Amino acid sequence: MLLATNNSAEADLWLLNSCTVKNPAEDHFRNSIKKAQEGNKKVVLAGCVPQAQPRQDYLKGLSIIGVQQIDRVVEVVEETIKGHSVRLLGQKKDNGKRLGGARLDLPKIRKNPLIEIISINTGCLNACTYCKTKHARGDLASYPIEELVDRAKQSFQEGVCEIWLTSEDTGAYGRDIGTDLPTLLWKLVEAIPEGAMLRLGMTNPPYILEHLEEMAKILNHPRVYAFLHIPVQSASDSVLMDMKREYCVADFKRVVDFLKEKVPGITIATDIICGFPGETDEDFQETMKLVEQYRFPSLFINQFYPRPGTPAAKMHQVPAAVKKQRTKDLSQLFHSYNPYDHKVGERQRVLVTEESFDSNYYVAHNPFYEQVLVPKDPVLMGKMVEVNIYEAGKHFMKGQPVSDARVYTASITRPLAKGEVSGLTEEFRHAPQNGTNWKGHPSAEIPVKTSFSPWMPLQLPWQQEGSGLKILSVSLALLAVLVMLYYGGMKTEL
Ligand code: SF4
Repeated sequence: MLLATNNSAEADLWLLNSCTVKNPAEDHFRNSIKKAQEGNKKVVLAGCVPQAQPRQDYLKGLSIIGVQQIDRVVEVVEETIKGHSVRLLGQKKDNGKRLGGARLDLPKIRKNPLIEIISINTGCLNACTYCKTKHARGDLASYPIEELVDRAKQSFQEGVCEIWLTSEDTGAYGRDIGTDLPTLLWKLVEAIPEGAMLRLGMTNPPYILEHLEEMAKILNHPRVYAFLHIPVQSASDSVLMDMKREYCVADFKRVVDFLKEKVPGITIATDIICGFPGETDEDFQETMKLVEQYRFPSLFINQFYPRPGTPAAKMHQVPAAVKKQRTKDLSQLFHSYNPYDHKVGERQRVLVTEESFDSNYYVAHNPFYEQVLVPKDPVLMGKMVEVNIYEAGKHFMKGQPVSDARVYTASITRPLAKGEVSGLTEEFRHAPQNGTNWKGHPSAEIPVKTSFSPWMPLQLPWQQEGSGLKILSVSLALLAVLVMLYYGGMKTEL
C-alpha cells in the first residue's frame, strides 16, 4: 500500500522533476532540492536538468533518473529509500540505434482525462546556440508509427477526445527511422473517431518546408485542428544565423504564407526571443515588422537569458535594459490588436475539454484551436457542440450553445476518472484478484496533484506485511506519477 499525503513534510521521499528551458524553472528545482534536504527527505531527481549536467555541485550524491529511464523509477526509489544513490543516465538503444525513450504504453495518469499528450520523438536535428534542452535530449529519436497509432487508439478507448502530438521538433519526426510526419499523421487521422480532434505541436521551419503540400491537406482534415506552432525567434537573418536556426526569415514566411493560403483560417502561433546576443536595433525592428505584418494571434515572447554552458552565453550580450525595453515594446505591439473581434456573430463548432482558470466557464476550442469559453454545463464536457459567438477578448471568445445543434460525443467509452491510471495491461487490470487494487482510483492512494508541480511527496511503507504485491502497486503508481510529471513538465517549444 502507498499512503497518500499532500503534506510534503510527511513524505519519506520527494521525487523532483525538472525543466531546463528557462533559468527560473531551474532555480525553482534547485530550491526544491534544498528544501528536501533541509527536511531530511530522500530525494530522487528526474527531467532535463540532472540529465544535462549531472555533475553540478548541488546534485552531488543524489539519485537521478534519466529522461529515457522513467520506466525504472521504482528501482531508483527502492534503492534511494535504502540509502543508496543511483544514477540511470544512459541512452536507450536497439541494435546501436537510439530509441525514442520509455515505452509509450507505460501506465500513466493524464492531467486531463480527456486529453492524451503523445511525445512522437525525443531530441532534434538542430544545435541552436541558446538551447540547453538539446544537452539533455540529444539527437532525434522517433517512435515507430505503429506504436504511436496504438497509443492513440488506446487513448480513445479510454475516453480521450483530444490528442496533442508534441516533441522538440515535430517537423523532424521520422527522419531517423526512414519515415516522415505526414505519413504518421495520415495513419493517426484514420484512428480518430468522430467528435475527437488531433492537435499538432511545435515544428521548426526547416523540415516542414519539405512537406508543405501534404501538411496543408492534413491541416484541412475535419478532425485535425488547423493550428501550427512555428517558432520564428527573430526576423533578422543575421540573428537567426547566430542562433544556428538553420532557416532564414524568408523560409518562415514561405511556410506561413503557403499554409494561410491553402488552409483558410489557420492559426499560426510563434515564439520570439528579444535581445539575443548581437541583436541590433535594426534587427529588432525587423522582428517588430514581422509581427505587425502577420499579427500572430498567439505569440510567446521571451526576453533572452543566457543559459550556462551554451554557446550563446559566451557571446557578446545585449545590455539588460535594452533587452527589457525590446520585450516591452513587442508585448505592447502584441496587445495592440484583437484577433477575434471580427468573429463575433459567427456560429462555430467547438470541442469542450477543460474548466477555465477562474472556474467560471468551460474551455472549448474551435477548428482553428482558438479558445472559446462556454457555459459551465457538465453535459457539455468532452462533447463537440455548436455555439454562437457573442463576445471576444484578446485571448478568447465566448460562445452560447445553439439550441438546435447536434452534439457529438467523441469517445467510444466514458473517460477515465481524474487520477485513474491509463494504459494498464490486462495482466495488471486483473491484479485485484490477488489482493492488489489496481482497477480503482489510485489518486486515493498516492498524492497526485492535478496541476504540474516540481515536487511529489511519497510515503512508502515498504516493510509492511505482504509487501510483494504492494510493491507491485507502488511500482505502477510511481511509474504513472512520473510519466504524468514527465509529460506535464515537458514544455520545450510545445
Ligand atoms: S531550440 Fe529546439 S530545435 Fe533548437 S536545439 Fe533546442 S530543442 Fe533542438
